Amino acid sequence: MADKKIDAFYETEVICPVCGEKIQVTKTRSKMLRFLKRDPDNCPYYEDTNPIFYTAYVCSECGYAALERDFDKVTESGKAEVMNKITPKWKKRKFVGKRDAYAAIEVHRLVLLNYTIMHVPFSELGKLCLKIAWLYRYLDDPKERDFLQHAYDMFEKSYTNEPLHENPANEVNVLFLMGEVARQLENYKMSVEWLGMALQAEGMRENQALERVTRDQWAEAKVAYSKMKKVEGN
Ligand SMILES: [Zn+2]
Repeated sequence: MADKKIDAFYETEVICPVCGEKIQVTKTRSKMLRFLKRDPDNCPYYEDTNPIFYTAYVCSECGYAALERDFDKVTESGKAEVMNKITPKWKKRKFVGKRDAYAAIEVHRLVLLNYTIMHVPFSELGKLCLKIAWLYRYLDDPKERDFLQHAYDMFEKSYTNEPLHENPANEVNVLFLMGEVARQLENYKMSVEWLGMALQAEGMRENQALERVTRDQWAEAKVAYSKMKKVEGN
């Protein structure tokens, strides 16, 4: 008997919380995934199927799109925003089956559009923009930098406008990501500042793995900043 190859992804059905239709979505089988490594900003690499290509669900009927973990959490005002601003312009189409980075970018940008219209917190918008930056990184596409910049701007707005201190684990995560993204954007002065603040933050005490990465990236940013100051001083 010939071996039947099991795909790392499969289709299943969920109910769209906005329009109430039964829709198809694609999920991955965690046992079939082969993790390779992670960049300091958490961008993951996998041998074949990359599960982060599949974390966005899009309703084929009404255009509502969200990350899998948020899909059922849409608020009443969020539903109204989607029905008023997205559904009227939506051309019905399905997003099922195998996804490559291009397809993943398309669905995650639909999520970004939905989240922007629904006014989700800036910290969540920042994390989503960072994820879209990773998708461009896989393709070596210069748009990665645009989305790193969007992510940085969202994290900064989050830090200024949102009560991050109420959730120390999220606060330290935002500070770290903001500092690491600033480093990638060669804004070393701010990178040193944000990563330094992350190291002092309350949430860092319970997260040794993050503390190690933060110290490494802070040291790199600090060296890069000194070099930059020397060049500017000449
Ligand atoms: Zn729907």
